[in-house]
Amino acid sequence: MSAPERESMEYDVVIVGAGPAGLAAAIRLRQLDPDLSVVLLEKGSEIGAHILSGAVIDPSGLSALIPDWKEKGAPLTVEVKEDRFYVLGEAGQLRVPNMIMPPLMSNHGNYIASLGNLCRWMGEQAEAAGVEVFPGMSCSEIVWGEDGSVRGVVAGEFGKNPDGTPGPGYEPGMELRGKYVFLAEGVRGSLSKQVAERFDLYKGVEPAKYGLGMKEIWEIDPEKHREGTVTHTLGWPLGRNAGGGSFIYHAANNQLFIGLVVHLNYENPYLYPYAEFQRFKHHPMIADLLKGGKRIAYGARAISEGGWQSMPKAVAPGVALLGCSVGLVNVPRIKGSHNAILSGIAAAEAAQRALAAGRSGDELTDYNTELREGRIGQDLRRVRNVKPIWSNRGLFASLTLGGFDMWTNNVLGLSLFGTQKHGKSDAAATGEARKFKPIDYPKPDGVLSFDRLTNVSFSMTNHEESQPAHLKLKDPSIPIAVNLPKYAEPATRYCPAGVYEVVEEAGREPRFVINFQNCVHCKTCDIKDPSQNIVWTVPQGGDGPNYPGM
Ligand SMILES: Cc1cc2nc3c(=O)[nH]c(=O)nc-3n(C[C@H](O)[C@H](O)[C@H](O)COP(=O)(O)OP(=O)(O)OC[C@H]3O[C@@H](n4cnc5c(N)ncnc54)[C@H](O)[C@@H]3O)c2cc1C
Ligand code: SF4
Repeated sequence: MSAPERESMEYDVVIVGAGPAGLAAAIRLRQLDPDLSVVLLEKGSEIGAHILSGAVIDPSGLSALIPDWKEKGAPLTVEVKEDRFYVLGEAGQLRVPNMIMPPLMSNHGNYIASLGNLCRWMGEQAEAAGVEVFPGMSCSEIVWGEDGSVRGVVAGEFGKNPDGTPGPGYEPGMELRGKYVFLAEGVRGSLSKQVAERFDLYKGVEPAKYGLGMKEIWEIDPEKHREGTVTHTLGWPLGRNAGGGSFIYHAANNQLFIGLVVHLNYENPYLYPYAEFQRFKHHPMIADLLKGGKRIAYGARAISEGGWQSMPKAVAPGVALLGCSVGLVNVPRIKGSHNAILSGIAAAEAAQRALAAGRSGDELTDYNTELREGRIGQDLRRVRNVKPIWSNRGLFASLTLGGFDMWTNNVLGLSLFGTQKHGKSDAAATGEARKFKPIDYPKPDGVLSFDRLTNVSFSMTNHEESQPAHLKLKDPSIPIAVNLPKYAEPATRYCPAGVYEVVEEAGREPRFVINFQNCVHCKTCDIKDPSQNIVWTVPQGGDGPNYPGM
């Protein structure tokens, strides 16, 4: 099929993704120069619809962007009052005294909030600043210049038939061209991945690492609600099967944000992260908190965990990667939104300087330098060994050696461990099924725990069924011919939305089925498929989850 004819529009800066990084970049560009033309494109039906985070928000990024955010009514109203850390066993828990935690783990001065709602508010600030903000616009392709630089993106293609041919209401979309293009797609961005491959941006750095975060919002008994309390747990139910931990945040209005993050470098292909999350809620301490409450929302999203060692080069001709498209999460603090905002500010400042000097389409090297040598680099460098120590030596070593390393980094600014390596990618870490035993998970009780498809309906996800599946297989034979015999096809378990099924019927060959309508855009399949055969691409704009206040 020949490329469709498209209209094009020219901007100074084109920004893909209205998370904290893209929004901050857009706002800062217009603060610096109100004459700059800036467009911000978001695949969610509205700003915030695809944002899922914890979230305990360190306001340092927002304060650097909008110092009077409080007066302007930013939805950060619940200040953290208490931090609690526990190591869980199956039937009990041990509280870790706050005084032995490294100072950087304290949440004093941070806020419990919905990052989705903060993005909605930042979207209003961006519009007020004169940014052209377009939700419901998926950016599906890079527009390459003849010299190989990035010139823009294609956005807003609608109405394809399931086989990819133009349907009756086909809209070819537009080319949005920019002197600079910012990719702020968050973790495992689909265009960022193409750009990183084309320009070999991960050359010389450790592989990117990820976790899968699953979250529910509950309304709990007001008697049990302690607004401003932040609890983190390690240990059960993951134990030796996988790294990870939970978060339990008492937000406003008797709401509880509860979630489990499972590191995606687990080996046992029988591990079922969603079922681990569900059984976690039956721990006596958690069950007691939830009893009498009701779950009102569910969702999932991958979180970047590679940190300092895995930061790719963030610039190439005409393009810069922002926020979690570079992987800027401080893993032990489970915080990335402050760095996402700071990266947006740094990219905007570098682009404005370049534009003012008459440059365009080149590499914003100042931005890359600022990421590594400025505040973000300092934040990530001092916690760089926590994740690799955990992955290579287990939970106990992570608590003791990793904790010690954070203390020395935090207080003395040095590490006795140098810079530890992550090793394999998460996909390559997956072991063969014959070396492991299947895990027997309890059935959900429908009160504290829920089956996957019921919970997915609480993400309000929706995809127009008459379009091509946005989850592409490079080789359609691999799930059944390779992944099923070798890895017991783990896609049926690692997907937190039940998108992938192996259907086995008497007298017929097993079939691999993709229920793409259920996808919540977490990107885990693109990361964890051991054959690296699944490619996540954007569905048409506006499709996907409709998170209320995740
Ligand atoms: C479970 C979990 C808990 C977390 N807890 C915390 C916490 O407590 N505190 C904290 O600070 N951080 C936390 N984080 C990390 C934090 O959420 C991220 O660091 C932050 O959201 C990154 O911001 P971003 O702007 O880079 O990307 P995102 O917030 O992911 O935003 C990217 C946006 O781009 C859009 N997009 C992507 N691709 C396209 C495309 N091709 N076309 C159009 N639009 C596109 C997406 O729809 C999305 O709206 C958590 C993350 C997870 C998953
Ligand atoms: S199909 Fe992939 S991106 Fe979609 S919910 Fe499942 S694992 Fe996540």
